Amino acid sequence: MEDDGLVFRKVVAKWFIRKNDESYGCELCSEINIPEDANNVKQRKGTGYTNIRSHLVSRHHGWKERYLSEENSETGNDKQCLSNYFNILVSAKARNVFGWMNFIVTKHLSFSIVDDKSFRNAVKFDPLCTNTLMKYLEFVADEVRSLIAVNISQRFGLIFDGWSDGYGSHLVAVFATFHDIKNKRKRFLLAIAPLLDETAFTAQNHIDFIIATLGSYNRSREAIEFIVCDNCSTNIKIAQDLGVPMVGCSSHRLKLEQYDGEIQ
Ligand SMILES: [Zn+2]
Repeated sequence: MEDDGLVFRKVVAKWFIRKNDESYGCELCSEINIPEDANNVKQRKGTGYTNIRSHLVSRHHGWKERYLSEENSETGNDKQCLSNYFNILVSAKARNVFGWMNFIVTKHLSFSIVDDKSFRNAVKFDPLCTNTLMKYLEFVADEVRSLIAVNISQRFGLIFDGWSDGYGSHLVAVFATFHDIKNKRKRFLLAIAPLLDETAFTAQNHIDFIIATLGSYNRSREAIEFIVCDNCSTNIKIAQDLGVPMVGCSSHRLKLEQYDGEIQ
């Protein structure tokens, strides 16, 4: 873990004393009365901290937590402590990939922008190609799906709507909505993706898409309590075929109600 860089240097400065060009003495060992000749850690000058790290891991269980808590009480700075914690426990590679993902997703940039040389030069992250970015985005999506799967109730309402870009792409967004055990309203985005069969926007194609979406959260059509969607004939057919109540155009009706109130 050569990636901890400067922060690990601070750990060494805190608990290790250089005895000579070949080795350090460990203060943590002294604390637990390990004799001085046994707490020598061989680490030749200029060769990094690999042996010191191994020594901490093998002999001083919980050293990271102790370091961070002591740092925190010394600086009184939670944010700094969190940042140290992040830097020590998360590899440089993971931090780099996270940096790219966070930047691209929150700024609505295209995934392929990571391949653009000018763009790479303008950001502080190490270069990354689209394939790598996509690989890690998919890992994150899997993790998020697993988290949602354990946090949604057994039955819920589905809110969905479609959107066409005018160039042949049609995306459907599906949300699950329910009240949790504390009666707090929850809503999770389950999918925003093209239909599995994009040749026709039929009720059956939508149902196949919905069932496949639920499958990735370990749920089946029995999980659907009701659907909320536009009042079009396809959606009415979807509700009929699924055998669930449909709340149609509720946002549209709310808007009309608002206009009505304004006119009066
Ligand atoms: Zn030690």
